[in-house]
Amino acid sequence: MFTLSEDQRALVEAARAASIAAIGPTVKQDDETETFRPEIFRKLGEAGLCGIPTAEAWGGLGLGYVEYALVLEEIARVAPSWAVCIAVNGLPQIILTKFGTDAQRQRFLPGLASAELLGAFALSEPGSGSDAASLRTTAVREGNQYVLNGTKFWITHGGYADVYVVMARTGGPGPKGVSAFLVEKGTPGLGYGKKEEKMGLRASPTVELVLENARIPAENLLGAEGDGFRVAMSALDSGRITIGATSVGLAQAALDCAAAYACERKQFDTQIIDFQGVGFMLADMACKVETARLLVHKAAWLRDQDAPYAHIAAMAKCVATDAGMSVATDAVQVLGGYGYTREYPVERLMRDAKVMQIVEGTNQVQRVVIARHLKRAYGGG
Ligand SMILES: Cc1cc2nc3c(=O)[nH]c(=O)nc-3n(C[C@H](O)[C@H](O)[C@H](O)COP(=O)(O)OP(=O)(O)OC[C@H]3O[C@@H](n4cnc5c(N)ncnc54)[C@H](O)[C@@H]3O)c2cc1C
Repeated sequence: MFTLSEDQRALVEAARAASIAAIGPTVKQDDETETFRPEIFRKLGEAGLCGIPTAEAWGGLGLGYVEYALVLEEIARVAPSWAVCIAVNGLPQIILTKFGTDAQRQRFLPGLASAELLGAFALSEPGSGSDAASLRTTAVREGNQYVLNGTKFWITHGGYADVYVVMARTGGPGPKGVSAFLVEKGTPGLGYGKKEEKMGLRASPTVELVLENARIPAENLLGAEGDGFRVAMSALDSGRITIGATSVGLAQAALDCAAAYACERKQFDTQIIDFQGVGFMLADMACKVETARLLVHKAAWLRDQDAPYAHIAAMAKCVATDAGMSVATDAVQVLGGYGYTREYPVERLMRDAKVMQIVEGTNQVQRVVIARHLKRAYGGG
């Protein structure tokens, strides 16, 4: 686990080269203009980066989560927006793999894994974020269809996605009343509301979904009625590894920029890295990047072994995203005034880092998950 195999090293090199080629030329412009380019997604798909852990039989590479984390780290080093895109497109793949029927897998997995189809995950609502089980969107069975009504908020790829996994209420209050559905683009009654204007992650579209009597075939139910909360939480356990890996890549990019700058920049006739105040800051940043990477890889490795991993994934998400925020902020400090300008990528990385502490369960919610695990493990009931 502490060294990469030859195949893993080759995958990292390939992911790095493909990310630089596909995303690099427009990364700055797309952040400034809040532009999402579907053609970049297709290029990452052509490079084989959109279905890393999906089985080969369903069009993926059939690799593990360690490989997935390695790839996301490389994409995030170029642009965290795009690592998040690949991670979000991965959520329907995780769900279909675990809960889908063969017919559902056949219909969607090869397209999602090859980037012919873009996927999305719609859990959050205006009134339910951390308390996801209180969601209010409804799905009512009518003959061989379900009719969906409600509003989903903060949906990454909203308006662009070809298929959404939508969580909606089919039963009573609480988690057991929630079911999961596949809703395709073009479904009558599926509309899009406002696009969020965000601090960071600006090349990734975040859009409101509006479901008004949206009719979908009954066979688009994922799992059984009442499984929806379990479907969503199981995807988020895996998703936390991907957001952790994205933050490791983001933090590495910030460290790369700051350390190189500190070796070059002179004040008082001295390279600034030789001022202990700056050198120690860089040393702490490097410690945080390595610690975060190790924990993300451990969570990924446990998942690959089919061992319990949810609490370690929550720790990895917390540690890596807090590291991302801290390292990117310190990188701006190391660059001084230049760090505050758009001439260097560190201000963008700092803006992008913040949202990682919020998405796929805020870092407070991760601590709730970890504390619950401790309570069980130490006999608290
Ligand atoms: C850029 C972006 C992209 C997103 N993409 C998606 C997407 O694709 N699909 C999707 O479904 N959602 C998406 N989300 C939504 C995201 O998952 C939620 O924002 C997140 O879960 C938090 O919910 P909330 O914003 O409603 O905050 P709230 O739940 O209202 O939380 C507000 C504050 O209270 C704290 N808090 C809440 N409950 C507790 C508790 N029990 N203990 C301690 N503190 C608590 C939180 O940590 C936070 O600090 C996205 C959000 C953003 C910003």
